[in-house]
Amino acid sequence: MKKIVIPLFLLLVAFAIAFYAVNYAKEPPAAGEISVHFIDVGQGDAILIDAGTTEILIDGGDKSSGIADYLDSYVDGNLEIVIATHAHADHIGGLVSVLERFQVEQIWYDGYQHNSKTFIDFIAACEAEGAEIHIARRGDVISIAELSLLVLNPDSTSSDLNNNSVVLAFRYGTVDFMFTGDAEQKSEASMLSSFLVPDIEILKVGHHASRTASSAEFLSVLTPEVAIYMCETGNSYGHPHRETLDALAAIGAQVYGTDTCGTIVITTNGKTYQIKTEKPYGSMTVTTAS
Ligand SMILES: [Zn+2]
Repeated sequence: MKKIVIPLFLLLVAFAIAFYAVNYAKEPPAAGEISVHFIDVGQGDAILIDAGTTEILIDGGDKSSGIADYLDSYVDGNLEIVIATHAHADHIGGLVSVLERFQVEQIWYDGYQHNSKTFIDFIAACEAEGAEIHIARRGDVISIAELSLLVLNPDSTSSDLNNNSVVLAFRYGTVDFMFTGDAEQKSEASMLSSFLVPDIEILKVGHHASRTASSAEFLSVLTPEVAIYMCETGNSYGHPHRETLDALAAIGAQVYGTDTCGTIVITTNGKTYQIKTEKPYGSMTVTTAS
């Protein structure tokens, strides 16, 4: 009889993956902690802030993102706030199913009336929701319970959809995040001139790490310790662009992408933070000084 020999290391790797898959699953943040999920939706953005019983969703990927199923595991009761950064389908397409599935209290968007079917469907879903609908403008504060986000962009909108992106600064304790949507260098320059741009720890890199965003000047003010870009492996845009990865490396940021890491979850108690990645097989922990 022929013996099938499986090398020990392969067994160990398989075990590690199986263990990790279990370990990765569905833990609500502990009391006093929040988790920020950079959800792998392929080519698109979807970010969940989970503070236990309060949740905020920023974008929902495209129509086929499966975002509502992902949220099922984390949303307790209402999904308090949904923020749509701008009218492109890779950000708002998935929000229609979210609005159908969950009771949402506040919806924020850039206010630009785009003529695409995706946008028209999104607005129809917003109107059917019965939620408060707000247009986000620079200086606005979006808040619920202990969470508040400062709107840094837009100041005004135009047919340049990416630069309409709602850009948000979010502070939890001493840990600062920035969520940029698809804002490009034009918005970055406008934000810099507003003097509202903070020094941060964690950056959601603008526009899927396209070279059209992340100017050296903008990054030099933000100086993030961790930079997360969101895109799909082998996407037709060539994201992430090499120049952007180089610019992030030049400021000393640790860079993670949903293309290689899958979903990325950062948990923080307001002083330190921990980063977990879905792939390849492990999680890692980073501690920062307060
Ligand atoms: Zn996009």
